[in-house]
Amino acid sequence: MKSFDVLVIGGGPAAITLAKNLGKEMNMALIRPEDHSMIYCAMPYAIEGLLETDKTLKSDKIVTDAGAELIRNTVTAVDFKNKRLRCACGKEFGWERLVIATGAEPILPPIPGHKLTGVTVFKSQKDMERIAGIVESGVQDAVVVGAGAIGVELAQALAAKDINTHLVDMVDAVLPNLADADMTAAAADELETAGVRLHLGRKVAGLVAAGGSENVATRAAGPDSSAVSAVELESGERIPAQLVVFAVGMKPNVELFEGSGLEMVRDGIVVDGAMQTNIEEVYAVGDCVSYYSGITGERTGGKLATNAVPMARVLADTLRDRDRGRDREYGGFYNGSATKAGELFVGGTGLKEAEARERYDAVVSFAEFTTAFPIMPTAKKVKLKLIADRQSGRILGGQVVSGEPVTDKIDQITMAIQFGITARQLLGFSYSSQPWQSFYPAHNLLVKAAEGLVAKMNAGERVSARG
Ligand SMILES: Cc1cc2nc3c(=O)[nH]c(=O)nc-3n(C[C@H](O)[C@H](O)[C@H](O)COP(=O)(O)OP(=O)(O)OC[C@H]3O[C@@H](n4cnc5c(N)ncnc54)[C@H](O)[C@@H]3O)c2cc1C
Repeated sequence: MKSFDVLVIGGGPAAITLAKNLGKEMNMALIRPEDHSMIYCAMPYAIEGLLETDKTLKSDKIVTDAGAELIRNTVTAVDFKNKRLRCACGKEFGWERLVIATGAEPILPPIPGHKLTGVTVFKSQKDMERIAGIVESGVQDAVVVGAGAIGVELAQALAAKDINTHLVDMVDAVLPNLADADMTAAAADELETAGVRLHLGRKVAGLVAAGGSENVATRAAGPDSSAVSAVELESGERIPAQLVVFAVGMKPNVELFEGSGLEMVRDGIVVDGAMQTNIEEVYAVGDCVSYYSGITGERTGGKLATNAVPMARVLADTLRDRDRGRDREYGGFYNGSATKAGELFVGGTGLKEAEARERYDAVVSFAEFTTAFPIMPTAKKVKLKLIADRQSGRILGGQVVSGEPVTDKIDQITMAIQFGITARQLLGFSYSSQPWQSFYPAHNLLVKAAEGLVAKMNAGERVSARG
C-alpha cells in the first residue's frame, strides 16, 4: 500500500492551495474524482457565452508542477484508526497526516418533481455542461430558484441568452446574504432591466411535469424521466420552465465520515484554529468545515473560496511548522464577497444591519459619492453603508453598491473589521485621490461614513448623559 506524509481528499481550491504550499517539501497526494478542478466562480459567464466552457477548467499541472501526486478517484471508506483509506477502484492508500477538503454540494430540496429532467443544481462541470446543453437546445423559459450571488449571476446569463428567465426567492429581496435590502434594491431593478423577472417573497411548492395539470401538492409530479414544464409556487401561480436550476445553498460533503467518530455539526466538520479535527493527525479545511465568525465568535456560514484558501494556508503553515511550535490560528469568517447585477457591482462584508442589531447597540451610516471626479466622463455613483457598535466604536459590517468593481472597497472594510478599527480611528484614514479613480480629495467614502457613525455615537452619548 502506498503511503504519503500528507494525503488530501479533494481537488478544489483548498486542496490545491495545500499542494502549492507543501508539494515541493512533502511527499503528498490529492485524491479527487472529477476530470478537472474548476474555476466555479466563472461558470455563470461560460453559460452566458462570455467564456469558452473549457476556460473554467483548471489544468492538473497546478497540482503536479507543485510536486504533489494527483490520484483520480473517489474515496469510499476511511479507516482513521489504521490511517488508511479505500477508493472506488479498490486501491488503498495510507497517510501520516490526512486532510479532508471534500467541499460542499448544492442542496436540491426534495420537493415534488425535483428529479424531473431539466431540473438541476449548479456546481460541477457536469452541471455546467447540462445547463449549457439545455440552453443550446433552444429552451424558451427558465426558472432559477435562489437569489443569492450564484442565482443572480446564472439568471442574468440565461436572460442574456434570450431565455424568458424567472428568479424566485422566499426572501423579499435579492442577494439577502450579501447585503441589506436598502442596498440591493437598485440591483433588483438592474436585474429586471436585464430581462430577469423577479418573484421575491415566494416559495416554490413543486415542479410540474410536461402534461401535468393538477396541483403538485396533491399529485405525484410524474415519472422522473418526464421533462419539467413548470414551477408551481405556494401561491398556486405557475411559471413555465423547461429548465429549473436550484441555487438555494450548499451543504458540507461529509456523508463519508458519518459514524466514523469524526466530530461534525450541521454545517460541517469541527476543527480548532489550527484546522485540526478531534482525531489525531486528521485535519479539515474549506467548505466541508464549520467555523466561527471572526466578529461574534458564533458558528456561522462561510462557504466561499475566499475562506477555503486562507484556511488551507493556515494549515500548510501548521503542517510545516508543527514540530517547531509555530502554529498559526485561523481567525474566522468575515465573509467579504461581491457580485454584479446588470451594470451594478454589489458587495458586503461582516454583519448585516439586522444581525448587528440583534447582538450589539448598532449604529448605521451611509456615504454616497462618485467613482471618479464628478466632472470626469466616467464618473458613476457609488454608495457605502457602514455599521458599527456604539459602545466600542468597532466596525461590524459594511456594504458597497457601485457602477465600478467593489471588491477593493469591501476588502478595506473587512480589514477595518478584522483588525478592530473603530469609527473614530477611521476619521483619520489616510486615502488617495485621482480624477479617474476616486471622488475629489475633499472626501472619501469610508471617512464620510465614519463621520456619520461618530456623529450618531456622540449624539447617543449626549442623550444618555442627559438621561
Ligand atoms: C457557481 C459558483 C460560483 C461561485 N463563486 C464564488 C465567488 O465568486 N467567490 C468565492 O469566494 N466563492 C465562490 N464560490 C464558492 C467556491 O467555489 C467554494 O467555496 C470553493 O470551491 C470551496 O473550495 P473547497 O476546496 O473547500 O471545496 P470544493 O471546491 O467543493 O472541492 C471539493 C473537492 O473534494 C472532492 N471530493 C468530495 N468528496 C470526495 C471523495 N469522497 N473522494 C474524493 N474526492 C472527493 C470533490 O470532488 C472536489 O474536488 C462559487 C461556487 C459556485 C458553485
